[in-house]
Amino acid sequence: MRRLLLSNDDGVYAPGLRALHDALLSHANMRVVAPDRDRSGASNSLTLSRPLSLTALDNGFYSVDGTPADCVYLGVHGVWDEKPDLVISGINHGSNLGDDVLYSGTVAAAMEGRNLGMTAIAMSLCGERHFATAGRVAATLIGAADQLSLPPRTLLNVNVPDVPWEEIKGVKVTRLGYRGPAEKPLPVKDPRGRTRYWIAPVAANADDGEDTDFAAVEAGFVSITPLQTDLTRHPALNDVQDWLDVFA
Ligand code: MN
Repeated sequence: MRRLLLSNDDGVYAPGLRALHDALLSHANMRVVAPDRDRSGASNSLTLSRPLSLTALDNGFYSVDGTPADCVYLGVHGVWDEKPDLVISGINHGSNLGDDVLYSGTVAAAMEGRNLGMTAIAMSLCGERHFATAGRVAATLIGAADQLSLPPRTLLNVNVPDVPWEEIKGVKVTRLGYRGPAEKPLPVKDPRGRTRYWIAPVAANADDGEDTDFAAVEAGFVSITPLQTDLTRHPALNDVQDWLDVFA
């Protein structure tokens, strides 16, 4: 049986994590290691300034006072002898589309698994109601994981429309779209009259073309985007090389 490591960024008590666990019960041996609170937006950050606590909870899950990447790192190299085969992160409460993947703790947990040599999948529900639908998608993917052959250093980013299973139109392989530039922060007064700022809601889509993750979920399809972590802008290499003539 496969050995799965489950994590998330919404925290160890999040309903999406429980839904993922319950959906995969018959498919794998599972170890669940997740942040002790909501760490959405934590990206790939690791806690380097203090030691981490790994706490066993009554339900068998483990809680860590750190980030999603910390959790996956500890879930692999912590107190266990056997390494997991696969890491699956989620089910996130809300979509992770386009450039969201750069900020997402859900994607980061999967990325940390990939960095540690495991097959890695990030699961997000584009809403907060039908976690069972995303759980069923996860179970199908995990059940077929043996047949998946990917280039090295690849992870899968999966977004599921927030509808009952019967209303899912199908599954599409997609590329990431793009959001527009961020909106202005929202100022609020704290109880002492000082101005604080909320990071604004996400911007409107700048690229949600037909082959994107945005378009797929909008049309009712599950979106699966293979991701790499090489951010090198290859077409720009020559531009920068030419510019370096300033040193000549
Ligand atoms: Mn989250």
